[in-house]
Amino acid sequence: MEHTTLQIQDLELFDLIERETRRQQDEITLIPSENYASPAVREAVASALANKYAEGYAGRRYYEGNDIVDQVELLAVKRAKELFGVPYANVQPYSGSPANSEIFFALAEPGSTVMGLALSSGGHLTHGHPKVTFSGKYYKAVQFGLASDARIDYDQMASLAREHKPSIIIFGTTAYSFTLDWKRAREIADEVGAYLVADISHIIGLVITGDHPSPVPYAHVIMSTTHKTLRGPRGAIILVTEEGLQKDGDLPKKIDAAVMPGMQGGPHENAIAGIATSLLEATTDEFKQYSRQVILNAKALESELRAKGIELIGGGTENHLLVLDFSKQSLGKGTLVAAALNAAGIVANRNTVPSDTNPFYPSGVRVGTPAVTTRGMKEHEMQKVAGWIVEVVEIIKDEKLPEAKEQKQSYIAEFRARMQNDPRIHIIRNLVKDLCAQYPTP
Ligand SMILES: *Cc1c(COP(=O)(O)O)cnc(C)c1O
Repeated sequence: MEHTTLQIQDLELFDLIERETRRQQDEITLIPSENYASPAVREAVASALANKYAEGYAGRRYYEGNDIVDQVELLAVKRAKELFGVPYANVQPYSGSPANSEIFFALAEPGSTVMGLALSSGGHLTHGHPKVTFSGKYYKAVQFGLASDARIDYDQMASLAREHKPSIIIFGTTAYSFTLDWKRAREIADEVGAYLVADISHIIGLVITGDHPSPVPYAHVIMSTTHKTLRGPRGAIILVTEEGLQKDGDLPKKIDAAVMPGMQGGPHENAIAGIATSLLEATTDEFKQYSRQVILNAKALESELRAKGIELIGGGTENHLLVLDFSKQSLGKGTLVAAALNAAGIVANRNTVPSDTNPFYPSGVRVGTPAVTTRGMKEHEMQKVAGWIVEVVEIIKDEKLPEAKEQKQSYIAEFRARMQNDPRIHIIRNLVKDLCAQYPTP
């Protein structure tokens, strides 16, 4: 085989990248925020566009030499606007968290009140998580949660809004399996005069294909990452809708200024090129089929897991992800299940469930289907995956995190090592690898 430049120049790094590539090929990714960008997207990201400084916006850059880069960025902007049917798009945010900070910076004075879904209820850190985040430190954050049926508690959302009068309601989820009611959220925002910001980072692919209701008729501003269900490069976009323009005609200006110079310097034009081509991919029939299949696959996981007695938060899913609840076995069990699954080559993440008292050692596991669907897996394969999950859960049914705080970490380390060497886990890992061999990563 021919040696690559990286291999000749930096073998140490080359080897690490090779190993990670192999890991991605040999393991099943059920982390719902992960996906595989297409070769075209990766080609754009690795292109010469990475070399160019382009602070500013098309036609008003602070650096010379941007005639072509302007066209690249305008292409991404045009595709984003057309795909969503909105009058404004900013494609420069480095990622989802900076984009949310930029939206807050644009729409609310520091110290004013913002409202979002709590992290423990499936919201994102940037939606006002207290103390440790930008959104919770520089703003007065109010957090709503879930009702007893594990669905968004819109009544609580409304009463908290009336009580605290937030200037922004940011509405979106990272660990929530059900459809979001944008209309209801907008009514609540209107009642107190707040901006409604829809964060569709997780569900953007489903929104594009109409498999989840679109926030475009209701939200004033929409934010999404580009590397999750969209399958683009790491990055984010901010959109302003017609509704947003009607509420505040200066929204585009405010957001442009908040992104650059407010929070960012030179945009990553290589990533923007990747966003442009992923937005083109999202218009194809292939993407439409992928998006449908993401949901069908999640449904297949749901029915198989339920049939085998695994508890699911809210009883199932309407989108691309499920949260498995092991709190009845013991508190903190999700931590052990995720570690054991990882040893078996099934990569998911631990996740808090409503009954959790310690967020560092949660009792749930979050699984999602975008990545496996991109590899071409369908319902039949999901049945196999669900079967392996159930087997792993059965293997560790008597394992329990120790109560004492100091003992937890050492127990987990010992448990991981034990799982790596468990012959039953080995058998599953080999079956996983065989299945993966039939579905190469792009
Ligand atoms: C992933 C995510 C983000 C943050 O994106 P990063 O690119 O990881 O910074 C923000 N909001 C939601 C709802 C997300 O799921």
